[in-house]
Amino acid sequence: MSLNIEKQMKAQLSDEILNALELCSQTADENNFKIYLIGGIVRDLLLKKKSVDIDVTVEGDAIEFCHLLAEKKYCKILQVQSALKTVKAVFKGKTEIDFASTRQEFYPHRGHLPVVVKIGCSLQEDVYRRDFTINSLAMSLNKKNYGEVIDYVGGIKDIKNKKIRVLHDNSFNEDPSRILRALKFAARFDFCRDKHTKMLQEKYINTQLHEDISWARIKSELKQCFSLNSAKVYDMFLVNENYKLIYGQKPEIKGLEIKNLIDKYNPYNVWLVYLGTVLNNKKIIEQFCFTRSEKKIFTDIEFLMNNRLSVMNTNYDIYKFFEKRTTESILVYYLLTQRKEALKYLENLSLVRVELNGDEIQELGIKNGKEIGEILEEILKKKLSGSIVKKGDEIEFVKSKIK
Ligand code: ATP
Repeated sequence: MSLNIEKQMKAQLSDEILNALELCSQTADENNFKIYLIGGIVRDLLLKKKSVDIDVTVEGDAIEFCHLLAEKKYCKILQVQSALKTVKAVFKGKTEIDFASTRQEFYPHRGHLPVVVKIGCSLQEDVYRRDFTINSLAMSLNKKNYGEVIDYVGGIKDIKNKKIRVLHDNSFNEDPSRILRALKFAARFDFCRDKHTKMLQEKYINTQLHEDISWARIKSELKQCFSLNSAKVYDMFLVNENYKLIYGQKPEIKGLEIKNLIDKYNPYNVWLVYLGTVLNNKKIIEQFCFTRSEKKIFTDIEFLMNNRLSVMNTNYDIYKFFEKRTTESILVYYLLTQRKEALKYLENLSLVRVELNGDEIQELGIKNGKEIGEILEEILKKKLSGSIVKKGDEIEFVKSKIK
């Protein structure tokens, strides 16, 4: 018997979204298009979870379909990708929907981005390019069977049994980033990989790794996984040997330790603290095309690890060692070395500031720029050792220098 989730949909989606979908539905029926909600949103409706993106697939040409909607002023087209025939449109200035034409893909080189072999294929052909059964469900938006779930691959059963299952044995070869997608969904929904999928994944990780793959996809999935700031994701990443995908190392660190540090010190790039503990392969770091600020985190980690702190240190030595290093890299350094000085720096020393500025020192009578710099440094040293505390003490110190 077919499953119909119209009721679920009405209960879960906002009125704006439902209205927008209603306009799509009417337009599709009037113009003989078959259209479906597809992928994540159908999965999330079945799981009774909130969905972020609304994806609609058009059996045929999504651009043509969206022009019909736009002509009736139902929506505004925001973006068109002609090669893939996808469209982003906004309804009532608010509800964004991504429309895709059904397409068939082919991976000529394993791990690289796929090439599209056919646009406007059947829904069934479109479904087979997808990653997991749970993400391969469609829900009809046509009046005739509105709300009916179309399941070519056993996705409904897998959602019930909390299983993540690939659609075919070549799935991880085609796109190894699916290994990380499996991790993300497992953590998010508390699902586990089915036995065969687990075996295929282990086989890929242990025998079929390849450096020549789409690192952009791997990076994007790592970012999504580790941005969840989930101890479980990190522990699973290590236990499932996912770090091998990025030619990383397995540290003796528990996810909870990282999570606690992140919650306490609030680094901007949460995901890079997790990633920084496993990724130290320079060649792969290059492949990731990090932004400048992301790259700095990795050069800082390298600096800290290669120039370890000596055993006995003054506060000033510690300050100088960590000064100018990103919080993320200092946390990674702590996690890898357990040197408490790293936390002392973040908690206390990094907050120490010289209150006097160059102009004020000049007004006190020291004119030479180099000398001013040296005095500022001496004050800093004294503040870090605790022999100077207040601004008044700083002024006294400068005066004593002049004498
Ligand atoms: P999320 O809730 O994280 O957005 P999602 O399932 O909607 O989950 P997207 O990354 O937005 O994930 O992808 C939309 C759909 O595209 C997926 O549901 C899946 O069917 C398909 N898809 C995405 N990435 C891949 C991939 N690497 N290989 C195959 N299919 C994919």
